[in-house]
Amino acid sequence: MSKIALIGSGIIGLTTALEIQAKGHQVTIFADSLPADTKSTKFTSPWAGADHVMEMGDDAKKREYEQETFDRLWKESEGDSDDARCIMRVIQKRYYEEDVTGKTQLEHMPDFRTLAQEELIAPATCGVSFKTVTIDTAAYLPLLLARFLSRGGQVRRTYVQHIDQVLQGAWGMPIPDALVVCAGLGARFLGGVEDKDVYPIRGQTVLVHTPWITDSRGMREKNGQGTYIIPRRSGDTVIGGTREVDDWYPHPRLETGHAILERALRLMPHLIPPNLRDESKTPSVADLEPHIVEHGCGLRPARKGGIRVESDIVKVAACGREVPIVYNYGHGGAGYQSSWGTALRAARLLEEAVRIQTIRAGRRLAGSSLKVYSYRQ
Ligand SMILES: Cc1cc2nc3c(=O)[nH]c(=O)nc-3n(C[C@H](O)[C@H](O)[C@H](O)COP(=O)(O)OP(=O)(O)OC[C@H]3O[C@@H](n4cnc5c(N)ncnc54)[C@H](O)[C@@H]3O)c2cc1C
Repeated sequence: MSKIALIGSGIIGLTTALEIQAKGHQVTIFADSLPADTKSTKFTSPWAGADHVMEMGDDAKKREYEQETFDRLWKESEGDSDDARCIMRVIQKRYYEEDVTGKTQLEHMPDFRTLAQEELIAPATCGVSFKTVTIDTAAYLPLLLARFLSRGGQVRRTYVQHIDQVLQGAWGMPIPDALVVCAGLGARFLGGVEDKDVYPIRGQTVLVHTPWITDSRGMREKNGQGTYIIPRRSGDTVIGGTREVDDWYPHPRLETGHAILERALRLMPHLIPPNLRDESKTPSVADLEPHIVEHGCGLRPARKGGIRVESDIVKVAACGREVPIVYNYGHGGAGYQSSWGTALRAARLLEEAVRIQTIRAGRRLAGSSLKVYSYRQ
């Protein structure tokens, strides 16, 4: 059993920590923000919808991570387990203003079909329907943390300035045999990593409590504007959104929130409560206002070059000790849908890196004792 330090307790840190525990190691998480903290742009995971919509692009690794995650979440959404109470199967309809018939790359999703003309909503010219899962992030993150703790994991809430602090056993924690970095956007600033390819894509949302909504919808307009409606098992629905590259603004803009709700009502008029529905009236934002839980925004941790799942060796500056390190960050807008796939990959890389380091250290030790033995002779 090795002692592993891991920075980050978002969806990536928690799934990775659980996969490493499953391989029999002792894991300590170091994190500035934890699940159930007050939401802020310092911590992305609580802001996600979150749904799993896997477009079959050319990136084989990304496809593998997402398929692995989908299979797991789909299975866990069955029955009455703790996981099933956080994950819900839904029908999602996606509408496109541009004619992308045959090019959506979603044909592999369960129960996929092309929408008939009479099913379309303006300004769409085509659309598709399929089944997927949505994750109630407010329940799922605490569940994963509780599972990690119940399996002997430790958590130290702290802001890490430099990875060497953790590698030298700061805050009274044991000196780790290896380090895993799952710091999301924090990987841009964390000393010893400082990955300047990591950047934010801001996403603004409105959370409403609408237990009557059980289906999911999305609209992509020609100008790139996207709208999505993601219901959760709890009866809450996440409505979005925006994709603002390099925008660090930490508060919701109220005019943007209003525009999101107006678009959402055009896409799904039955968002308003059943008792207010009236064929002769157009649903308005005012009808929905009593059901608004919060306006908010999060920063998706994007990375030029895509997700970083890699291993390496780092040297602690103060003592020269060499330590295996595994990176798992830069998931952008797809952290939930690739979480378990990248966690599994990171855990495998860690096993391999620790094994090689143990052999190297053993060889060095054997070499030095041989020298001592020769000298004594
Ligand atoms: C509006 C919105 C909607 C989204 N919808 C979806 C969706 O539908 N499906 C989907 O798959 N994804 C979605 N995403 C993306 C998803 O939320 C992210 O990809 C994911 O949350 C990233 O998780 P993470 O663990 O890498 O980062 P985070 O959740 O930000 O966690 C980072 C962790 O590292 C810690 N940390 C960082 N630096 C330090 C440091 N120096 N010292 C100590 N601790 C540190 C933080 O405290 C935190 O615990 C959405 C995102 C947004 C904003």
